[in-house]
Amino acid sequence: MSATTGAPPIDLGGGAVRTDRVLADGRAIAYYDHGPGRPREAVDRRVLDDAPTITELRRDPLLDEWIVVAGHRQARTFHPPTSECPLCPTHGDQLTEVPEADYEVVVFQNRFPSMTQAAAKHGISVPDTRHGFGRCEVVCFTSDHASALSSLTRDRLRLVLEAWIDRDRILSGIPGIEYVFVFENRGLEIGVTLSHPHGQIYGYPFVPPRDEQMRRAARAYRKQTGTSLYDDVIAAELADGGRVLHNGDDWVAFVPRAARWPFEVQMFTRRPLFRLAELNEAERREFSTMYLTLLRALDAVLDVPMPYIAAWHQAPVRADDEDSRLFLELFSLRRAPGKLKYLAGSESAAWAWINDISPEQAAQALREAGRRVDG
Ligand SMILES: [Zn+2]
Repeated sequence: MSATTGAPPIDLGGGAVRTDRVLADGRAIAYYDHGPGRPREAVDRRVLDDAPTITELRRDPLLDEWIVVAGHRQARTFHPPTSECPLCPTHGDQLTEVPEADYEVVVFQNRFPSMTQAAAKHGISVPDTRHGFGRCEVVCFTSDHASALSSLTRDRLRLVLEAWIDRDRILSGIPGIEYVFVFENRGLEIGVTLSHPHGQIYGYPFVPPRDEQMRRAARAYRKQTGTSLYDDVIAAELADGGRVLHNGDDWVAFVPRAARWPFEVQMFTRRPLFRLAELNEAERREFSTMYLTLLRALDAVLDVPMPYIAAWHQAPVRADDEDSRLFLELFSLRRAPGKLKYLAGSESAAWAWINDISPEQAAQALREAGRRVDG
């Protein structure tokens, strides 16, 4: 983003405005507010080193996959006390990543990134090694430290969605970024090091292996049948009905028939969409309601807050085919109160998954939990 101190807010449509600013070490920060926006004139008073660490991509020759090697991340902020949370707004002398005294939704470049744009300037001549080029951003959903995405209002979740869409558009425009991955890790059990409600966005210089594999499967299916794998999967789930959690005007959500995780949900638009920016007004509106209900159902299903991962899958930046589909997946590794699903030998070493809960049971439990939270 181009960020000039004092630049006026930019109207994004959908009732959202973005104000671009710069942090003390040159990193970009963008405030997303409901229109007409706020002045956002606070200055970052911290003294920060401005040299982003260079990271590496190394190709694993046995699997032909890129691994990001980012040794400096060992030093990143780890479970600070609430009074030292770097994602809270700045209060008095408690200087944080967000100079303003309050915010709605804010996005900034990660201080401990796995990949940086600066990497492109440095040469590496070692075989099977590339610069750790890319971009890592943090998305704070609310200034309320004790809140959660599932506790937000529909209006605030809509603003988060507008921020995701805007960031996807901006990161997609950076030469060298091939895939924009929007995700949220929630809960200590997932490995979250900051409890403040936030998600992340990675701009990868490659298509991630899992999305590449889904694209291969869709391509092979289309060649064989002449139809879309995604369309046929969605139609089969709706025809079966046993795992469907949401069957709305514009969205469908279901526990996939071959779910890997104890509680796992996939959310698709009825229209075949490839990227976040293609969501129309009705789809954005219905999403906010549907997703809040599903997040609340997930927390209610075992009567304990659930650790989860939520991830948007979409087409690579430069794809000109129909082998990708926009969808959101949400899954938890908790299988019972006090019990987690660990990725042990079969999953971690062989990539052969064993799910301890039948997807039909999980769907039934999530539907009942959804009725409780809606009622
Ligand atoms: Zn905080």
